[in-house]
Parts: sequence; structure tokens; C-alpha cells
Amino acid sequence: MPMQPSSPQHVLVLNCGSSSLKFAILDATTSAEIISGLAERLGSHSPLIKYKFQGEKHQLELADGQAHAAAIASLVQLINEQHLASHLIAVGHRVVHGGEHFTESVLIDDNVLSAIEKTAALAPLHNPANLLGIRAAQHAFVTLPQVAVFDTAFHQSMPKVAYLYALPYSLYREHGVRRYGFHGTSHYYVAGEAAKFIKKPLLESNFISAHLGNGCSVCAIKNGKSVDTSMGLTPLEGLVMGTRSGSIDPGLFTFLTQQLNYSVEQIDDLLNKKSGLLGISELSNDCRTIEEAAVAGNQQALLALDIFCYRLAKQIAAYMVPLQRLDALIFTGGIGENSDIIREKVITQLGFLGLNCDPQANLQARFGNAGMITKPSNTVSALVIPTNEEWVIAHDAAVIAKEQ
Ligand code: AMP
Repeated sequence: MPMQPSSPQHVLVLNCGSSSLKFAILDATTSAEIISGLAERLGSHSPLIKYKFQGEKHQLELADGQAHAAAIASLVQLINEQHLASHLIAVGHRVVHGGEHFTESVLIDDNVLSAIEKTAALAPLHNPANLLGIRAAQHAFVTLPQVAVFDTAFHQSMPKVAYLYALPYSLYREHGVRRYGFHGTSHYYVAGEAAKFIKKPLLESNFISAHLGNGCSVCAIKNGKSVDTSMGLTPLEGLVMGTRSGSIDPGLFTFLTQQLNYSVEQIDDLLNKKSGLLGISELSNDCRTIEEAAVAGNQQALLALDIFCYRLAKQIAAYMVPLQRLDALIFTGGIGENSDIIREKVITQLGFLGLNCDPQANLQARFGNAGMITKPSNTVSALVIPTNEEWVIAHDAAVIAKEQ
């Protein structure tokens, strides 16, 4: 059913982490952001909510130990005080892991809740936090439809050759051990925008999208569908990230446990929190800090950037196997949208694909500016497309709400 531009269709978008809650109200007809904010340090000392409304920044303090329910209660109060409730038509929730149950966004009911609960074994840090947010929002917004949008859903089109590990098949059959992929909402969004950019129908377009933020993943998109992606059973597989190692030799586990007496928890902490750009540079997980240090002559910072870019370029090249033909390489996420240095280093290594960086255009495509950063004469283009996962969540939630 077409939307009525005359009546605002606002959606509250919630992205609930273990100790944080990101929120925004978007107009699903115009994509305008009405309010956005972040509740952090939930459940611990001095939790607070920072938000932006009508161009101004504000802050609300919560009592020590208050968590998601209290943050949502404060958010409800804020929504009521600012008279934002009357145009709300739905609540959209980002849910990290949808397992094999969910291939698209869904209206949340008891069956959906129990399926998300069952999938928590695959995402023990994320799905329980997402469920907390859903339950608190159900309680707070009794009459509004609640919609779940999954980070894994876009990748459910991957074929078995891409998603199965070479492990005993029973681990997949009985325990769901396979590659799922993440950042699906972002890859899906930028693919749609890239198709508009190159003026080709999405379903006839082949892209490789690189979502580069604190977490990083690449996705091979064939005729508009994900056919492979670099993250796997968990968001640890694949590229070098801020603090995550990405793919490593699994033999490392034996070495660390038998030779260095590491516990499972210590290995998990090492690979997820102490590796990646931070581990190599011994300086920071923040790409800006590392770039500044590299420019100033810090060799370990330069090495961290070089390893990051080499691994990324290798992964992109590998995706020519499923794609065979490429329309565009897409950069997105905090690093992809802003780091001309990383983009240039990656494109330089991919010249054999027909990519050739345009230095001027590369410098200009930063701070929210989309653009083509290869010369128009190139057979394959590289594009910078700012991602907008909140918009996808708001859009899907509005569409599903209107079907009710
Ligand atoms: P995200 O997780 O998408 O918010 O991205 C966070 C990452 O983007 C961090 O590593 C930041 O250092 C990086 N980033 C943000 N702005 C810039 C910039 N101007 N240049 C390089 N990296 C940036």
C-alpha cells in the first residue's frame, strides 16, 4: 500500500547491546531523523542517556545499576514530553542473529521471540540483549507493532558451498554450526544505493561491499543477493578489525592452551578484544589514531594499516570467484566512508580488476559524502556509500506495521 506523505509515519528504532541502547525515531516516509541517542553504561556505574533533538545535544542521568528497562522508561517519558508518541506507528528492533529461521524482517510474536531465544546459543552476547530491548519495548508500547530486523537475514541467500565449514556435517545438522554472516542490513542498504548510483537494476547488479567500522566484513552480492560474506558463525571470522583478529589458524588454540596455558576465556578475550589494528599497532583500535601515527612515521601503525588493507584486498579478489563479473566495489562504515588512505591502499592492490583510484574524488568522498572514487572511464567503479541501517529498520518496520 503506498504511504500517505501527508501523515507522518514515525518508527522508533532500537538497537540494544549488553550495556548500551541506541535509539532513533525516523520518519519512514522521508527518512528524516526526529530524535536519536545512546544510553550507555547500562547496569553499571553512572548510566546515562545522550540524545540529539532539534539540533541540540542533551543528557539524562540514570541511577547507578539501572539498565535497559529504566532506559526505555526514560525514553518513553522523553517521547511523551516532546509529544512524539502520536505519530509512532511501530518499533523496529535490530536483532543480531536470526540463525536459519529468519530470511527477512518479521512482526514479533511469541513464536518469533522463542526462535530468537533459541538462537542465543549462537550469539550469547547479542541476542539476550536484543531480547531485553524487545521485552521492555513491548511493555512500554503495548499497542505498537514490534518488528525484528536481523543482521544475518540478507546472507540467508548464500549457497551451501559458501556457508558450510569443512567440519563433520553433524555439527551443522545437529547444532547449526555454519557461516551466517553479519552486517546484512548495511550490505543490503548500500547495494540498493549503489544500484541507483550506477543506474542499473539491483537484481542485475554485481557488487562487493566492504563494511569497515569497528567490525569489518565484505559481502559478495550477485544479482542483488548475498552469495558470500567474510564473517561466519560469529562476527570474529574474516577481515582484520579494530580489536578482532579476523580469520586465524585454528591450530592457534592448541598452541595457546598447551604452550602458554591460556584458558578459553583468555583466548576469546585475546581474539575479540586485544587483536586486530590494536594488537598489531600496540597503539589503538581507532583507525584515525593509527593513520595519524603512521603519517608521523610510526612503523607498527603503518604495518597495522598495511595488514588491514592487504587482507581486505585479498578477500575482495577472492569474491570474483562467485561473482565472475563486478559492477562496483562499495566502501561503507566509519572507515570505509572516511578513510581515503585505506581506500587508496586497497584499490591500488586491485588494479587487475580494472579499478584505478581517482585521488581527487577519493579525498572528496568523506564525512557523509557519497561518490565514485574511480575515474568514470574505469570498467569497474569504486563507490563510497554512507550506510543507514536505522533507515532499513524503520522502513521494514513501517511496511510490516501497515500490513497488520
Ligand atoms: P563505525 O563502527 O562504523 O562507527 O566506525 C568506527 C571506525 O571508523 C573507527 O575505527 C574510526 O577510527 C573510523 N573513522 C571514523 N572517522 C574516520 C576518519 N575520518 N578517518 C579514518 N577513520 C575514521
